[in-house]
Amino acid sequence: MRLATLLVPGRGETVAAVSPDGARYLPLDGTGSLAERLAAPLPRVDADWETAPRISDVRFLPIIPRPGSLWCVGLNYEDHRLETGRAKADYPTLFTRFPASLIGHGEALARPSVSHQLDYEAELAVVIGRTARHVAEESALDYVAGYACFNDASVRDYQGHSSQFGPGKNFWRTGGFGPFLVTPDEVPDPQDLPIGTRLNGEVVQASHTSQMTYPVRELIAYLSRIHPLHPGDVIATGTPSGVGVARDPQLFMKPGDVVEVEIGSVGLLRNGVVDEAQADQ
Ligand code: MG
Repeated sequence: MRLATLLVPGRGETVAAVSPDGARYLPLDGTGSLAERLAAPLPRVDADWETAPRISDVRFLPIIPRPGSLWCVGLNYEDHRLETGRAKADYPTLFTRFPASLIGHGEALARPSVSHQLDYEAELAVVIGRTARHVAEESALDYVAGYACFNDASVRDYQGHSSQFGPGKNFWRTGGFGPFLVTPDEVPDPQDLPIGTRLNGEVVQASHTSQMTYPVRELIAYLSRIHPLHPGDVIATGTPSGVGVARDPQLFMKPGDVVEVEIGSVGLLRNGVVDEAQADQ
């Protein structure tokens, strides 16, 4: 099953089921955000997709527009750790993002006015479906509502201003999140997915989620010891090698670029790039 948060003319923020080919949507009955709805069993959707509205007529919001917590994992692929020159760590490297840094599929990333070092990072996002507290690795995937594509676009100079990644990871409109939440029945093993990025059609990252240092089940177990994970909370699980800052010459995104994150059965997230002054307010 595929779910999305859409901006539908006349309806505003709309939680919808999406057809298997991703071309049509059906608003779900009831009220509340997708995060709130994940706390209850999801309805069965028996749609006549041929008569459902076309998704190309609406805008995508971030799948979870206002997550209660959005954890990000740094350096979670060994090849990426090596390209950054950072030391091996005994525990996951964690930072957080705020909701205002997120955008939906098809929206434009904003290149900041104060920096032109805007870099791409393809990541598998995990969305929590049940409250998880002190869970065991063995059962951790039982708490997953689904998976999505994430572009943890990063402002590299601000990321390096101190030992804390947060500033470079929270610029306005730099986190692409979408297009769909794909339920686990379509993603039986989150560690068995090709993951990559294309910038203007050229492959710049190409890896596999089997290369994660801390796989999804370990991340959920570890984070659930820190505080409860609630339905709609998100974990962005880190990016593989190939980021622009580690290239020679360095490669940063600029206005007019199109960046695509593609992850196996999870989907394809596409975003343009504009200067901050031209981005939607
Ligand atoms: Mg990242």
